[in-house]
Order: sequence, then structure tokens, then C-alpha cells
Amino acid sequence: MTEYAADSILVLLEATPGGELASSAAGLLGAAAEVGTPVALVVAPAASHASLAQAAGRLGAATVLTAETDAGALTVPATDALVAAVDLVGPEAVVVAHSIEGRDVAGRFAARVGAALAVDAVGVTRDDDGVLAEHSVYGGAYNVTSAPTFGVFVITVRQGAVQVRADAREASVVALSVLASDLPAARVESFEQVTATSSRPELRGAAKVVSGGRGLGSGEKFALVEEFADVLGAAVGASRAAVDAGYVPSSYQVGQTGVSVSPQLYVALGISGAIQHRAGMQTATTIVAVNKDPDAPIFEIADFGVVGDLFTVVPQAIAALEAKQA
Ligand code: FAD
Repeated sequence: MTEYAADSILVLLEATPGGELASSAAGLLGAAAEVGTPVALVVAPAASHASLAQAAGRLGAATVLTAETDAGALTVPATDALVAAVDLVGPEAVVVAHSIEGRDVAGRFAARVGAALAVDAVGVTRDDDGVLAEHSVYGGAYNVTSAPTFGVFVITVRQGAVQVRADAREASVVALSVLASDLPAARVESFEQVTATSSRPELRGAAKVVSGGRGLGSGEKFALVEEFADVLGAAVGASRAAVDAGYVPSSYQVGQTGVSVSPQLYVALGISGAIQHRAGMQTATTIVAVNKDPDAPIFEIADFGVVGDLFTVVPQAIAALEAKQA
């Protein structure tokens, strides 16, 4: 029987419909390895267990617990598996992606077992009393730390926020025995596969993001943001003003009422830097801003700022990058 370390951190990994680990896996296992021994849990069809377990080992999982999923049911099978995994491992903390599914499972699990839940953490640390969650709150104006007063600590981690990576390991694989709760679950009756036409990275969790604001002036001119993003291999984001003006779809919106991103590089083009925008990007490692107004608030948080007309600056940057890549 596998013995689990006293400092075990249980990491719920998500799998894509194609049977691969979701891109959040590396950051979650990296965060877990910083504070303890990562034990991964994958809840997926049996056919993909072996490859998912191998991939989790490469990302630093010491042990991988595998559980079968009822393909049609949402959330409940993963929550049931998490309950069984926590019973088996007795971890100090459970770390889950702050994704749509991750948030749902973490909330249900915490409510079911009466555990403390910390959401949207940007880091996981430890002090003498145990595991802590780090948060960036009030639009990034404050960094705060949370800790449970008792019980296992459930933490959802913002995708892309943790850059540290764990060393690869030869993970031992354990088939988890799960007692189905038979609680009511929403079921997927049918679905339609939509082929993505973009080769760009997904905004949530992207390592690089180039965003455009009202300063672009129109949807046609927003193409410059996309061109710059493609040269950098970045995802494309936007301010709410750009979305409201119809330059791009609302799924591009970064900020308080949009997507929160935490990339290594965030480029803000023609964005003033309102607090609601900053709330969704302030934790980026390096922020570059181009704005013609030297007093634009975005410069307060930018690591590199260019005061100038973006229609002059950005084409020059694109040409310089292309020349370097040639
Ligand atoms: P503006 O504030 O109009 O700024 C445009 C900038 O472009 C200016 O700084 C200007 O100097 C510059 N510029 C213009 N032309 C050029 C040029 N040629 N070259 C270089 N620079 C140029 N906003 C979000 O982004 N995300 C949110 O999630 C969000 N949620 C909100 C929630 C609430 C409840 C509220 C009240 C607001 C929210 N907002 C959000 C809106 C937010 O307050 C700002 O209005 C918005 O972020 C402004 O977008 P912007 O910077 O593109 O536009």
C-alpha cells in the first residue's frame, strides 16, 4: 500500500476532451511542489489514464491517483473522486485550477466536507502553521494571505499565475476506488464540436498577452494588435471600452468583469489603465504599455512604457521583431 507524505498536496488535474492534461497542470504541480509533495488526481476516461499519469509525472507529481469519470455528468464525479482521494491521502491542501470546472468542483467539495476554500490565489506558500494562499485583491492594490483555521485547505489557483515548475519524476500510479455519491448532477445531453480557427494561445493561462483598448479606434485598426500578438506568439486581449465599441468579442475582455490573466508578458496598447482593467492583468510579470498620454495610469504599473502614437510605435516593433526572427 502506498504511504503518503505528511506534507502531501493533492492536485486536481483537468484533462482536455482530446485526452491531454490541461495547460494549468504545470503551474498547479509547480505550486504544490514548492510547499509539499504533489499527489495528482486525474478524473478521466480509463483509456487516457496511463498517458495522463505519465504526463503528470513529467510535471512533478510523485503519485498519480486515477479515477474514471461518467462522461456525461458534470462536477459530481470529480467531487466524489476528490472526497475519496482526500480520505486516502490525508493531504494538507487541495489545489485546483481557477477554471470554470475547477471552481465548481472546489466549491462543491469544500461545501460537502466543510473545508476552508480560498479562491483565485496567485501563489501558494507555507509558514510554520501550514499552507497559505496568496491573493491579489481590490484590483491588485493589495496582496493578502489566507489560511484555514482547521481542516484540509482547498485553494483554486489563477491560471498562469504560478511560473515555478517542478522537477520531473517517475510517478507511481494508483487506481482510486471511488464511492459514487449519486447526488444530482447536470448532464451533457449533446454537444457540437467547434473547430478553432485561431492558432493563437488561449487568453486564460497564456504566457504572453497583447491587449488593445479604445486607442485603437476601430475594429479594422484592431488588426494591428493581432498582428503584434502573432509576431510574439501571444494571446489577444482587450479593454472593456474596446469590447463595448465592438472592436472585438466580449471573450477578449481582460479585467474585473472579464478574464483575469497573469502572463509573463502583458502588452497594453492604447489602454488607459483603469482600475477595473488593472484588476485582471496587474499580476503579469512584465508589463509593457504604449500610450500617447504620458499621464495615463497604465504607466504607474508598467515595467516598460513608450509614450507615443501606437500606430507609429507598434509597426516599428513588429518590423524589429520580424527582422530578429528572420
Ligand atoms: P480609455 O480609457 O478611453 O483609454 C484609451 C487610451 O488610449 C487613452 O489612455 C489614450 O491616451 C490612449 N490612446 C488613444 N489613441 C492612442 C494612440 N493613437 N496611440 C497610443 N495611445 C492612444 N474595463 C476593462 O478593461 N475591463 C473590465 O473588466 C472592466 N470592468 C468594469 C467594471 C465596472 C463595474 C466598471 C464601472 C467599469 C469597468 N471597466 C472595465 C471599464 C473601465 O473603467 C474603463 O472604462 C476601460 O478599461 C477603459 O478602456 P480603455 O483604456 O481602452 O479606454
